Amino acid sequence: MSALVRLTDQVWLYPRDPNPERMQPNVGVIVTGQETILVDAGNSPRVARRLLLALDEIHAPPVRAVIYTHHHWDHVFGGLVYDAPIIAHEICRKNLVELAAKPWGQSYIQEEITRAPAREVGLRAMARAVEDWRSFSIALPEITLSKTLRLYSGGLTIEIEHVGGQHAADSLVVRVPEARLMFVADACYPPPPHQRRPDDTLDRQMIERLADEGLDIYVDGHGDPRALAEFRRLAVE
Ligand SMILES: [Zn+2]
Repeated sequence: MSALVRLTDQVWLYPRDPNPERMQPNVGVIVTGQETILVDAGNSPRVARRLLLALDEIHAPPVRAVIYTHHHWDHVFGGLVYDAPIIAHEICRKNLVELAAKPWGQSYIQEEITRAPAREVGLRAMARAVEDWRSFSIALPEITLSKTLRLYSGGLTIEIEHVGGQHAADSLVVRVPEARLMFVADACYPPPPHQRRPDDTLDRQMIERLADEGLDIYVDGHGDPRALAEFRRLAVE
């Protein structure tokens, strides 16, 4: 059985790890006939290698582009494994250029935990996710956008739109109109845990705006795919 879940004819999901401590989000897989385009990279080279094996099993064509939905490590740390250009918002690139200059490794992570204890849970997940720091690097975006970018491939349109928001200023959503589907990633989430205040909620306005497009399937970063009605319901919870 494949590790991939088929959402539509040409769109698949490499599903998140349900264990929240692993912090492994969904990766979107768009198979257009001639090429495969990924939405996010997985949280580590290990996950990225597993994803490539899963793509082989379904005889997917080569990965020709990877879209980072935002700069958070769990969405980008698998990026170096794909031999493909990376697309992201220009703020994402700027953030990752800064992150890439850090001396990544267990001792650096330990120092960061001491410096910012509120980030401990995420940093420990990061330390578990990456097996080998010596061969690790952050793959930087080579193509950036500031508002929207459209890719056309094998009859599909892949619309990338910057929505920003409280979770990350660089958040993008990725629509595949022909598949009536949208990858929302973390765009509607509250700020990340270490920046969260007790009264922070999901971004209801953003959920309503995206739901008003009336697509069939909405896929967020760390949940199961939702049908339109279910996604819209998030705005009133
Ligand atoms: Zn995030």
